[in-house]
Amino acid sequence: MASAVREVEHFIGGRAERGEAARSGDIFDPNRGEVQARVVLGQAADLERAVEIARAAQLGWAATNPQRRARVMFRFKELVERHMDELAHLLSSEHGKVIADSKGDIQRGLEVIEFCCGIPHVLKGEYTQGAGPGIDVYSMRQPLGIGAGITPFNFPAMIPMWMFGVAIAVGNAFILKPSERDPSVPVRLAELMTEAGLPDGVLQVVHGDKEMVDAILDHPAIGAVSFVGSSDIAHYVYRRGVAAGKRVQAMGGAKNHGVVMPDADLDQVVADLAGAAFGSAGERCMALPVVVPVGDKTADALRAKLIPAIEALRVGVSTDPDAHYGPVVNAAHKARVEGWIQTGVDEGAELVVDGRGFTLQGHEKGFFVGPTLFDRVTPTMRSYQEEIFGPVLQMVRAASFDEAVRLPSEHQYGNGVAIFTRNGHAAREFAARVNVGMVGVNVPIPVPVAYHSFGGWKRSAFGDTNQHGMEGVRFWTKTKTVTQRWPDGSVTGENAFVIPTMG
Ligand code: NAD
Repeated sequence: MASAVREVEHFIGGRAERGEAARSGDIFDPNRGEVQARVVLGQAADLERAVEIARAAQLGWAATNPQRRARVMFRFKELVERHMDELAHLLSSEHGKVIADSKGDIQRGLEVIEFCCGIPHVLKGEYTQGAGPGIDVYSMRQPLGIGAGITPFNFPAMIPMWMFGVAIAVGNAFILKPSERDPSVPVRLAELMTEAGLPDGVLQVVHGDKEMVDAILDHPAIGAVSFVGSSDIAHYVYRRGVAAGKRVQAMGGAKNHGVVMPDADLDQVVADLAGAAFGSAGERCMALPVVVPVGDKTADALRAKLIPAIEALRVGVSTDPDAHYGPVVNAAHKARVEGWIQTGVDEGAELVVDGRGFTLQGHEKGFFVGPTLFDRVTPTMRSYQEEIFGPVLQMVRAASFDEAVRLPSEHQYGNGVAIFTRNGHAAREFAARVNVGMVGVNVPIPVPVAYHSFGGWKRSAFGDTNQHGMEGVRFWTKTKTVTQRWPDGSVTGENAFVIPTMG
């Protein structure tokens, strides 16, 4: 008997299409712990069709002047704002984050679209008059052709917009392969781009898993791939994409530290940690899951304030306006997070607040994990070295400022880090010395604004170009430099050049 479950299809050539898919994946309602829809899992033949369409559409799009391309971005921004509630509910229903977080996810993506509204200015290029006798040099940024993006489940609106906003504004066609766990919002965004006036085929969405990712990485017509996800897969994508001759940027996992100096405002730190460690159930690459108080006195005082604050956090369904955070994305992830908590216990860390076994009345099958706090975590523990990606805060006590700089600097990940202090000199030293890509000073989640760029270091990013801002423009374009000389003297006879007149 045919199932009545909704099926999410590819968005190819401006319309929904099932393609050749022989397989499909489950999309859960994390609040209820039930399958609510299915997504087609595409294969190389589906990508091939999208590439053919993109190839044709890109020529006209690249020839469209930048101001007209920017107008599509303006209209898209207006449309997304108009559809904000619908998009946020759809996002929460598949991801599990609360509505306010879903709106934040969409809003941070829109800020990149706002940057893209100014793309004519950014693409003006450079010019040197008189680089030699009668010689001028100018350079221009041209699109690569077809770009692709492969995105994670945790920001299904923001990260696709980081990528397709810039890639399309500069004149590329773009093929997005979103996470198969929450693929509906990316498709809606593509539909809204079409409604905003983007020609069919310039932005397409293909769904799938490893099979589709490999097809993208191997396809010779795709010039650049942007990836965001976990580090092992980011590294794989980077190596395979580069081996196929592509430009690749691949952002990976994270384990961000928040250093708390003895002079910090501890009430503010506790309020910041409540949001940064537990918001979105900790499923943020810029979450702050490790807190590093400097000195035992700071650690004891912080711990005393943290415990009641953590116990007061309200875990609820994603539509509950009073909930601090909702369920994690699926059962496998819930089991993984709880597994890491057990590992922490086995390794000898002190489990201060235990979030395992949490159930919400009326939603007993939902994928909820209660807030968890560990103290006396040490750098040799695996639960410290690896990303947990759940509502788990680990306290690592540092004896000195130098040790507090060393911990995030020597960690395998280097996405974000924060320092909480009232001392400008300590903050300045920390920002200069720490071996991490994005630093917050009294800012717990230092995600750079859209016109700067986003990117971590070490195993948090492979490749050397960040997302969005001018780094994004550089990633999605190639530079052409023209050296020109116009010799003096007029040409006579039949080769004479006559300035055409309007007629
Ligand atoms: P993931 O690595 O499981 O999936 C990311 C993408 O890779 C998805 O589109 C998925 O379909 C694809 N994929 C999965 N398995 C694959 C395989 N074996 N081969 C090829 N492709 C494969 O990541 P996720 O669980 O969706 O997202 C969470 C991870 O993303 C966390 O590690 C988080 O830190 C990271 N993240 C990083 C950033 C950043 O900017 N550094 C931002 C957001 C999320």
